[in-house]
Amino acid sequence: MKKYTLFLVVFTLCFSCKNAPKESDITTLATIEEKAPQKRAEYAMAIHGGAGTILRKNMTPEKEAAFTAKLNEALDAGESILKSGGTAMDAVVATINVMENSPLFNAGKGAVFTNHGTNELDASFMDGKTLNAGAISGVTNIKNPINAARAVMEKSNHVMLSGEGAEKFAKEQGLEQVNPKYFWTQHRWDALEKAKAKEMQLGYHEQLEFNDWKYGTVGCAALDKDGNLAAGTSTGGMTNKRFNRIGDAPIIGAGCYANNNTCAISSTGHGEYFIRYAVAHDISSRIAYLKEDLETAAGHVVKKTLVDAGGSGGIISVDKYGNVAMPFNTAGMYRGYAKPGDRGVFIYEE
Ligand code: ASP
Repeated sequence: MKKYTLFLVVFTLCFSCKNAPKESDITTLATIEEKAPQKRAEYAMAIHGGAGTILRKNMTPEKEAAFTAKLNEALDAGESILKSGGTAMDAVVATINVMENSPLFNAGKGAVFTNHGTNELDASFMDGKTLNAGAISGVTNIKNPINAARAVMEKSNHVMLSGEGAEKFAKEQGLEQVNPKYFWTQHRWDALEKAKAKEMQLGYHEQLEFNDWKYGTVGCAALDKDGNLAAGTSTGGMTNKRFNRIGDAPIIGAGCYANNNTCAISSTGHGEYFIRYAVAHDISSRIAYLKEDLETAAGHVVKKTLVDAGGSGGIISVDKYGNVAMPFNTAGMYRGYAKPGDRGVFIYEE
């Protein structure tokens, strides 16, 4: 209903009633404005490469340039698929593969080490159209865990496979396997040594405060030209995690969620909190039940719910209209988005 129609209704009401409406009735009617339905963007995507203590003062121009270039390369991979009418699911996988294959991020090649000095990877994937989902956890030899998560969704009767079973399944699906040594990188090893030394001094929880490289998960959320949403998350977990610890990244509703009726989300941060507060699902539920917009729902969960609980991290998200929200409660979050004719890549608080 247009504003002028509304005015006519109020006007008519005023003069047709024997008892003229009270001033308060008029105000109520006059302030009702039917929201025009939002127009859906042709496509949209958002990515992250982890949140954490990412400070300008600790960054060299070279490092900053390397992150920016890799985030752009990841966006290129997904956007070219979305632009040409490909699916959100394909875009999510292609985007995450770029970051998994880079040692810069804590996923695939740059995965962090467990307390045991091993690399154990987790990933999840969700299709917003069908609410089908797939995840793998604690794998040690799958080059691209996100591909295995998708395969679990599409080629098995299950949602999550872990450890040896997940590895065997990935092999049967013909997914690329690597020697676990492939995941070894010097900077992640140094980070483990540092974290262990701090733990001796302060205890496990307290060492997290000083652990600059504790996060760094990667993720992507996308909306395709058909209006379908998808999300994926891939990680090495948290530096110095106990072996066989499983974080939020492979937990549907915590580290990843997609629903065509609301939004697609990928999380990064202190996984235990994201699991306990069902972060990704909570954001989607606020949109569904409270009719909040994406920005409000995501902002509330990341900046209020998580902050009150003491959980650090952030999320990236795209809603069914192609709106993007990327809130975080840490110093920085590697992140970016792409829509037709519009792109942004960021590291720190803007
Ligand atoms: N959320 C991940 C985990 O707890 C860590 C990260 O986001 O980097 O395993």
